[in-house]
Amino acid sequence: MKEKKRKLTTTSGKPYVEHENTMTVGPRGPVLLQDYIYHEKMAHFNRERIPERVVHAKGTGAYGIFTVTHDITQYTRAKLFSKIDNSCRVFIRFSTVGGEKGSADSERDPRGFAVKFYTEEGNWDLVGNNTPVFFIKDPKKFDDFIHTQKRDPRTNLKSPTMMWDYWSLNPESLHQVMILMSDRGTPFSYRNMNGYGSHTFSMINKKNVRVWVKFHFKTLQGIKNFTGSEAEAMRGKDPDQAQRDLVEAIDKKEFPKWALKIQLMTDERAKNFQWNPFDLTKVWPHKDFPLIDVGVMELNEIPKNYFADVEQSAFAPAHIIDGISWSPDKMLQGRLLSYPDAHRYRLGANYEQIPVNKCPFAVNNYQRDGLMRVDGNGGSDPNYYPNSFDDIYQDESYKEPPMVLDSNTADWYDRNAPGDDDHYTQPGWLFDKVMTDHEKKNTINNIVTSMSGVTGPKREEIINRQLCHFFRANVNLGIAVAEGLGVKVDSSMLQSS
Ligand code: NDP
Repeated sequence: MKEKKRKLTTTSGKPYVEHENTMTVGPRGPVLLQDYIYHEKMAHFNRERIPERVVHAKGTGAYGIFTVTHDITQYTRAKLFSKIDNSCRVFIRFSTVGGEKGSADSERDPRGFAVKFYTEEGNWDLVGNNTPVFFIKDPKKFDDFIHTQKRDPRTNLKSPTMMWDYWSLNPESLHQVMILMSDRGTPFSYRNMNGYGSHTFSMINKKNVRVWVKFHFKTLQGIKNFTGSEAEAMRGKDPDQAQRDLVEAIDKKEFPKWALKIQLMTDERAKNFQWNPFDLTKVWPHKDFPLIDVGVMELNEIPKNYFADVEQSAFAPAHIIDGISWSPDKMLQGRLLSYPDAHRYRLGANYEQIPVNKCPFAVNNYQRDGLMRVDGNGGSDPNYYPNSFDDIYQDESYKEPPMVLDSNTADWYDRNAPGDDDHYTQPGWLFDKVMTDHEKKNTINNIVTSMSGVTGPKREEIINRQLCHFFRANVNLGIAVAEGLGVKVDSSMLQSS
């Protein structure tokens, strides 16, 4: 029994005998500088935190398996989808967006839904949310938008004034605001919500033909949400409730599952689509672009160490595989830069060597050195290309078809110019034809509660401007919110509808 025990050592491996008492001159001190072990312990402790993510700081992760259930080979040549029953390991990280690492899970917020598929042809990251749309459609606006979801620079408090000021000045936010203010803004658990790739991506088949695609993960546990007051109560009762729910379910072997589905749009249909098919504030209606079954994802393993796998996990829409690619979606294009950039800042240039991020299959290139290079750094192999010594080559059979674009003129185009300025039809549909009466009532209550927090000299201006957006989406919605806020509806608001 004794032989099986492991000796206590310094991090350099020296066995040592005293873990709890510092070396002192006499029993009452002072402490000797030569008690190096004390320095080592404290110095490491002082460095335990890495920068928390600026967005999506509070998260929960799990491993699982994705299995192909339907044949989509006519649309994509991705090896993962080449046969029914093909499967691969996945890692998922769920998160809230605006709160800090210690914030409550049941805040009203979109939820991150980031999946890493470890495929034979590379890691594919589908870095989505629990909503099919987003607040903005141009990535240049992201930092401003996120500032409004964080803390007021003076009070250090969350500020409904900043939020509604921003949303009211950016009408393209309305669709996502409506979803956020519905009970889907406070999901009961990560298991009970859908995930959406949200962006328009593309698929490329064996004939090198590209088709536009959107990805949907539909929960097989059923949608379940908190009402506004239930979510508020849960924030006090158990701020880590969604983390606990996932760990406990998987520990009990109640493995949550999602069905992966896609919507497809040919380039020809894209040209005639009522909206810009690459606009992240719009969905593609199901009746025109029906969901096509693809596969099932099951989560079945909580990582053994939270920091190692969840905190250090790094997803990037830049990580695609052959047969799946990007689109002109401006927000997607922006994220191709910003995600890997954020990981290089948080984790270093070699973040893809960390086990949770590492591709378990072949990786060959000429990148060398950098902080925390721990994979042998290419040994004595050549570190330049082309060279006369190794056998690494670029395989042109993976080439994608060229992406044909609509224009050859560079400019700062107005994102909301005529033709791109319908911010109201889809949120109107959501309210009018999708929500039940009960959901409508809760959505209105949630909006009124949130907008009641708008304060200061611009209160009236902000509220009136936002009311006009609600009126334009749906008159009954506008009237109900105005009534809830005690605002007298004047004809200018109704005329804007
Ligand atoms: P459908 O009537 O065919 O389906 C409605 C969709 O809305 C379903 O996917 C449903 O998800 C989802 N949904 C229900 N309640 C909410 C909510 N409070 N917040 C967000 N999504 C919700 O829809 P259409 O395709 O004709 O589009 C109508 C509206 O539905 C859109 O304007 C959009 O707001 C919303 N929607 C559309 C999606 C799409 O990809 N077309 C995706 C999600 C929402 P579920 O089936 O899982 O319950």
